[in-house]
Amino acid sequence: MNDTIETINCPACGKEMHKIFMQESGSALDVCLDGCGGIFFDGQELKHFDEQAESIEELKQTMEGKTFEKTDETVIRICPVCGNNMVKNSVSVKHEITIDECYNCGAKFFDYGELNKMREQYATEKDRQQDFLSSTYSEIGSKIDALELQNNMNRAKRSKFLKLLDKIFLGR
Ligand SMILES: [Zn+2]
Ligand SMILES: [Zn+2]
Repeated sequence: MNDTIETINCPACGKEMHKIFMQESGSALDVCLDGCGGIFFDGQELKHFDEQAESIEELKQTMEGKTFEKTDETVIRICPVCGNNMVKNSVSVKHEITIDECYNCGAKFFDYGELNKMREQYATEKDRQQDFLSSTYSEIGSKIDALELQNNMNRAKRSKFLKLLDKIFLGR
């Protein structure tokens, strides 16, 4: 999905969002400067901004010193690009940051402060992948442990069963 060209209204507070041109990625972000301070990313935009090594200078400058309205983050939001309901979704393996995501067009909405929180977690894409990998490995590891436990139990059951057969057929 390409950048939206028309102005859109903020999915959290309904105010018209402002376009902020980002030099490094060459894309324009929609930011709710007159309302809640939320940031809207179309399609694949977010991957240019989710780690610390990527510049969000223009965004920081524009938002600096401003105060923003609080919004109710539990309300279901409607995607301003395609009109579908957005889904609350975790953006980190540690599950502590929840954003709104549109599964239809891939748009993502961050409430004020959430983007910074997410960027603070990882300096680079490599760090992010490593964290993802290590948490996946530990998850798989605990599943394997559980399976082994099950197999051991089956083994114990089988030997009991074999002993029972011995008793019946061999009288031992
Ligand atoms: Zn807003
Ligand atoms: Zn959408």
